[in-house]
Amino acid sequence: MKLLEEKIIQDGRVLNDNVLKVDSFLNHQIDPQLMLEIGKEFAKRFAAEGVTKIVTIESSGIAPATMAGLYMKVPVIFARKRKSLTLNEDLLIAPIHSFTKNETNEVSISKKFLKSNDRVFIIDDFLANGEAALGLAELVKQAGAEVVGIGIVIEKSFQPGAQKLLAQGYRVESLAQIASLENGKVTFLNEQEVVKVS
Ligand code: 5GP
Repeated sequence: MKLLEEKIIQDGRVLNDNVLKVDSFLNHQIDPQLMLEIGKEFAKRFAAEGVTKIVTIESSGIAPATMAGLYMKVPVIFARKRKSLTLNEDLLIAPIHSFTKNETNEVSISKKFLKSNDRVFIIDDFLANGEAALGLAELVKQAGAEVVGIGIVIEKSFQPGAQKLLAQGYRVESLAQIASLENGKVTFLNEQEVVKVS
């Protein structure tokens, strides 16, 4: 998605060879107009899938997922990282190891929001090792529902997440695919595919 790639080049900051910081438009301050376009693109790509629910994880998945929900006209559920105060809730629970915090948290969704006849579209902000997406897919499975696909705003294609998800048979749609963050520079996968004519 050209608009997103331009925004990453303009406002993203390469922290090191493995981490991109996008807190000026996605992870802290949010660019609503860009989120709207992202939601529209996800909705277009999954229009034929009969999606009934979108599942994401707090907090950075919520903005793009909500915009996709707006276009797809379906509810958006975000998995919680902290235990809710209403402890009497019946919960679906899965462990997710955090790429950025290097700690494992139990994430949860209330059983009342996911049913076995749901067709679920999973959305997250980044894809690195695939832990978050696989944890969310586990919650969907526990509900007996079906994962129809996984939408990622920024995929770091040089890390193993995408291959892991594809190997498990999931459809993965990433709006930006980063081939490398080496030397402080963002290189997109599609730039690498350019054939040089001499
Ligand atoms: P995974 O679970 O695929 O290993 O990592 C994805 C999760 O880690 C995302 O939910 C995101 O919050 C975080 N993450 C992974 N890589 C990056 C990154 O380069 N930058 C930022 N800001 N977050 C990342």
